[in-house]
Amino acid sequence: MADVERMYVNGEWVLAQGGATFDVVNPADRSVVARVTNGAVPEVERAVTAAHAAFREWSLLAPKDRGRVLLKIQELMEERRDDLARLVTLENGKPFDEAKKEVQFSLGYFGWFAEEARRLTGEWIPSPQPGKRYWVLHQPIGPVAAVTPWNFPATMVTRKIAPALAAGCTVVLKPASATPLTALAIAKIAQDAGLPPGVFNVLTTNRSGLVGTELLTHPLIRKIGFTGSTGVGKGIMAAAARQIKRLSFELGGNAPFIVFEDADFQAALDGAVAMKFLRVAGQSCICANRIYVQRSIADRFVPAFIDAVTRLRVAPGFKPGAQIGPLINEETRAKVHALVEDAVKRGARLVTGGHYLDGEPYAKGFFYAPAVLLDVTDDMAIAREEIFGPAAPILTFETEEEVIRRANATKFGLAAYFYTRDMTRLIRVAEQLEYGLVGANDAAGYTHEIPFGGFKESGLGREGGHEGIEEYTEVKSVVVNLS
Ligand code: NAP
Ligand code: MG
Repeated sequence: MADVERMYVNGEWVLAQGGATFDVVNPADRSVVARVTNGAVPEVERAVTAAHAAFREWSLLAPKDRGRVLLKIQELMEERRDDLARLVTLENGKPFDEAKKEVQFSLGYFGWFAEEARRLTGEWIPSPQPGKRYWVLHQPIGPVAAVTPWNFPATMVTRKIAPALAAGCTVVLKPASATPLTALAIAKIAQDAGLPPGVFNVLTTNRSGLVGTELLTHPLIRKIGFTGSTGVGKGIMAAAARQIKRLSFELGGNAPFIVFEDADFQAALDGAVAMKFLRVAGQSCICANRIYVQRSIADRFVPAFIDAVTRLRVAPGFKPGAQIGPLINEETRAKVHALVEDAVKRGARLVTGGHYLDGEPYAKGFFYAPAVLLDVTDDMAIAREEIFGPAAPILTFETEEEVIRRANATKFGLAAYFYTRDMTRLIRVAEQLEYGLVGANDAAGYTHEIPFGGFKESGLGREGGHEGIEEYTEVKSVVVNLS
């Protein structure tokens, strides 16, 4: 095992005062991948002070020049893509091919926002009175605190820091304690790309409550970008109220996946399997959580779905052909299993999987056999809560109106999917689903160019798209009296 991994503050690689460390564990075999320096209050102070000091100069750079650095970061990330992906698989567990795709996608945010920085235009507003002029401009908000989860160790980081840096903000990032190594590698790339000291800082810690509170309520932090669970988000929102801090939240989801009888059968089947199981083993906020199949095709669809699930290859992420890796930790695995057991107790039928995997190569890791549950009802916890794992509850429905009502009957509103060949229905359903991302005959998720975020308790604000950079700005109206 290597030395202690240092955090990146003010352009330097530093150790936390007192020398505390925490371990990063490989979820495929519980081996210790790295020991990482464990930040606390003094490190928050150091990082925030650095971000504050660096803000003025960075924000005054021409957008095109900030963009140049971001494009260099993108280029270096692409050059080092496989090394980054290796870290992702080591600390997160997802299959190496999937990790490479994640890194490839994640670096695209630097390119998109480097360009968007140049298009952050204002407005000249026609004056209602002679002798006055009005203009409106966007200005960078100031030092930002970013807090990210472990499920996409690269994308969750770049989707926040790229727009923040492009807008002219500086950032203190606190990555998830399970996956700090990818974030540190991105910081190294930013350093190599010539990003000035203090503009981007990475504070590693596993004392997330303590450090979180200190960082997120620091008076010099102007904005919080948080991705994680709705519960933690609510706590942050309450704490942020004291200073009316700007907030962007990407929180939990409970995505319905609706298969209408007129769907392209194979496309719907492939989409359902992919959106349920093939994104971090189901540990993604936009994963299908409830699969609604129209009754008239259930006899055909359900056996085909079960068959496809039984053929999925569960394996450690570096094993060629692996499609589903381990879950992130024992707590997550136990939670998924508890939801499956609860559903069975309430009358659902478990038709495949739904148990811990042991024996080689699974024995030491957090592997779970992909589960399919039939006869699930909307009131079961597995349908109401975010599963965050490889278990697929199947529900049936009769009519379009009914399924829309049931799909919307949740406090979440992040992503929804449906398959139909009827174009009038496609428009109707897309418009009625109360979700920030709707996949109509599509299960590929989002892209850099469109805004991403949730309705209701799934979030606040948007990441990506043009909206993504505006989130890191304040809007100023200038009134000029010429008389
Ligand atoms: P989490 O427990 O909420 O943690 C997210 C981040 O917050 C981590 O960095 C965590 O640090 C930190 N944190 C935990 N408690 C904190 C506190 N009291 N104060 C400040 N920070 C705190 O979420 P998770 O379990 O890592 O991730 C899964 C959740 O994230 C799911 O609900 C998922 O839907 C959501 N998610 C949403 C999106 C989206 O775009 N909407 C994307 C990905 C994930 P530690 O790692 O040290 O605990
Ligand atoms: Mg957590």
